[in-house]
Order: sequence, then C-alpha cells, then structure tokens
Amino acid sequence: MSQTLQAVRGMNDVLPDEAEFWELFEDTIRAWLKGYGYRPIRMPIVEPTPLFKRAIGEVTDIVEKEMYSFIDGLNGEALTLRPEGTAGCVRAVIEHNLAARQNQRLYYIGQMFRHERPQKGRYRQFHQVGVESFGMAGPDIDAEMILMGARLWGDLGLDGIELQINSLGQPEERAQHRAALITYFEENAELLDEDAKRRLHTNPLRILDTKNPAMQALCAAAPKLIDYLGAESLAHFEGVQRVLRDAGQPYTINPRLVRGLDYYNLTVFEWVTDKLGAQGTVCAGGRYDGLVVQLGGKATAACGFAMGVERLIALIKESGGEPAAPAPDVYLVHQGDEALRLAFRVAEGLRDQGINVLMHCGGGSFKSQMKKADGSGAAFAVIIGDDEASTGEAQLKSLRAEGSAQQKLKVDDLAEAIIGQLIDSDEDSEEE
Ligand code: ATP
Ligand code: MG
Repeated sequence: MSQTLQAVRGMNDVLPDEAEFWELFEDTIRAWLKGYGYRPIRMPIVEPTPLFKRAIGEVTDIVEKEMYSFIDGLNGEALTLRPEGTAGCVRAVIEHNLAARQNQRLYYIGQMFRHERPQKGRYRQFHQVGVESFGMAGPDIDAEMILMGARLWGDLGLDGIELQINSLGQPEERAQHRAALITYFEENAELLDEDAKRRLHTNPLRILDTKNPAMQALCAAAPKLIDYLGAESLAHFEGVQRVLRDAGQPYTINPRLVRGLDYYNLTVFEWVTDKLGAQGTVCAGGRYDGLVVQLGGKATAACGFAMGVERLIALIKESGGEPAAPAPDVYLVHQGDEALRLAFRVAEGLRDQGINVLMHCGGGSFKSQMKKADGSGAAFAVIIGDDEASTGEAQLKSLRAEGSAQQKLKVDDLAEAIIGQLIDSDEDSEEE
C-alpha cells in the first residue's frame, strides 16, 4: 500500500477560500505601493548560500540554524532557499546596476523559508511583502516608510498596531556600546542563559533581543545604545521623529529593538500588535546603508521593511474583516450536444461583454446542474437545452430574486438583459 504524501511540516497549502482572501489582500498591497511610487521586482527563490552569510551575518539565528541550504547535486554549488528578501534584492540591484543613475523604490511579494519551530504565526514557508529603497540617505525616506505602514493599516481596516522605533547608530558607535555591553554582561555572568553565553563575544547586541522572560530584567538595565550615539546619528533619528510627530503618528522608542539581522544601521522600526499572541510583529525594517558595499556594490544608502503576510491576514480575520468571495455573474447550464456547442459560444460572447461566466462541465441532469448553479453564488443561470439550441435561444433565470420567472431570450440579447439587471440590483442594494 502506498503511503499518503503530505505537505512539508510548517509549509501550508492556501486553499481557494483562503487564496481568494490573499488575492484581495495583495490587490490592496499593490494599490497602496503604487500610491508611493514603488515598482515591482521579482528575484529567484534560490540564491547562492554565501549571499545570506555575508548579508545577514554568520552569527544570527537565521544563518546559524534556520536556513534551508543544500548542495546542487549537478554542479556542487552551495544554494539556499531565501530566508528573507533584502539580500537577494540588493544582489539584483548591484548585478543590474539599478541604483547607479537614479534612486529606486522597489517591492516584492513572495515565499521565504526558515527552519523554525512551527507554531501559530511562525512557519517554515511563509510570505513577506518586502519594500526597499536605494539611494536616499536622509531621514525623510525612513519616515515615509514608517508612515506607509500607518496608511496600510487604515486601508486594511486594522487598528491597534503600535509603532516602536530605535536607532542603531553607525558601526563605530555600536562598537563602543558593544564593549560596554560585554563588560556589563560579564559582570552579571551568573544571570546569563545558554544562548546569551554563546552570544556574549560574538553578537552581544542580540542578547537584548532575547525572548527568555528570565533575562528581561537584566536586559532592561543594560547599557543603552542610544547613549553612545554621536550628534549626526541623533540628528538623523530626530529628523525621523519630527516627521512622525508632524503626521500625528504615535510611537514609542524601544531601546532594545535591535532586529535579528546584522545589516541594519540608524533607524530601525517594528509594528506590533497584541492580538496575535507571541508572534505580534507584523512589520519590521530599517536602514541598511552598509549592505550594498558589503555585497560588493558602490556605496548606496538604503532602507526597507518586510511584512509577514500570514500574520497580517490572521489579524484581518481576527478583526472581523472577511472580503466577500467573488461569485460569478452567470452559471451556464446546458444539456445535449447542440446545446454544448451553443453554450460555448454564449459563454465566450458574455465574457466579451465583461460578464464572468462559470460554465458547467462534466455533464449531469438539469436538476443537478441547477443545484450547482445555486451553490455557486452566481446571480443568474443561463440554461440551454437542445430545444433552445435549435432556435438560438436560452433561458435566463435570476438566482437571487425570489420566485422570479424564467425569461426566454435570443442568445444575442442575453448580455444586455444580464447587464441591465445587474445594474438594477446594484442600485437596489445601495438603497437598502
Ligand atoms: P520574529 O522576531 O517574529 O522571529 P524576525 O525578526 O525574524 O521576526 P524579520 O526577519 O524582520 O522577522 O521578518 C519580517 C516579518 O516577517 C516579521 O515581522 C514577521 O511578520 C514575518 N516573519 C518572520 N519570520 C516568520 C515565520 N517564520 N513565519 C511567519 N512569519 C514570519
Ligand atoms: Mg525570527
């Protein structure tokens, strides 16, 4: 007996009811991004492994233990399923010299892969909307990216998503803070958990990002990076905050916001909700001015953020937002060989007029086809038997108006009748 096959753990199918929801979500996302001048870019899902090691950092959770890496059996190349999109986007920008002559505002939507412990809001294949900008060094673009988030929550009908910001300063400033942090944690060595001990001399900043409750008090009292920032970094941070204040956008400065990827500098931010349990960060990003050079390009200011699609969709549902599944306008019922031929002509003719048609396929009695028509949610059934076929006619029946009579019409008059009645019923429902 053959064993049934299942999807890989932590990787989900998105079934049609759900996928329709996703498409509506993506429509909103694309319209929103267009409103800010962002253009799409599509990168491969597989990239050379060294790209992620260099971009994200060797001593990060992602690179240390979450990447799906493998050797291409055909040529021995080390490859990785992308765990995030920024590295690949920067690679593409460098490879195609995109930022040389003009600034770029780019976005992508797609799968990411991380070998994490699957739980609500945390999967091994998940989706991100990634938004990146290149060539703009001032705090204006950081602020714009943050305000974009606020507008999107409005567009999606979401509230209660709170903004946290921080500044990571520049590498020299972080180096001084790092030294102070190591001293502080060494003085409190007995309070460190295993993770923290391991990170103490490799990536002490990341200790602050711990999710271990027992470490919270220790981290809260640790030296704060913001106290090590010089005048320029502080001015940049203040520039971001000024725009946020002008826009009436509330925020909290979270000195422990450090992000799990090493490439960030200056502004970092997260949008967080308390409605999704532990996995409450729906959007996170910041500035990464050093990354383009680090990956072999010319010095280019850059800034970006990524949103977790699964978490946002869960939040929309949690808030009661359920986009209506788009029903077809017409379900086309037909029986008999001649009826089938006419039905195809009618269906294509209606579609030419912008009417959505679900054509019955697979045979069956009129009665069973009418049941399917009712179940489809269509506004009308168009019914063609061999009698109708012989005279070039069809029956039009409203499936929504209670007890409405069937009309026999010439097939060439169907579109007009359907469009007329669709408009009437739209007006009725607006009056209600
Ligand atoms: P977290 O702290 O939740 O692990 P992160 O810092 O690893 O998040 P980023 O790499 O900044 O997350 O990714 C941006 C967004 O992508 C997150 O805010 C989250 O919404 C989403 N995300 C990250 N990892 C996962 C995952 N394994 N499953 C689902 N969504 C995820
Ligand atoms: Mg993570």
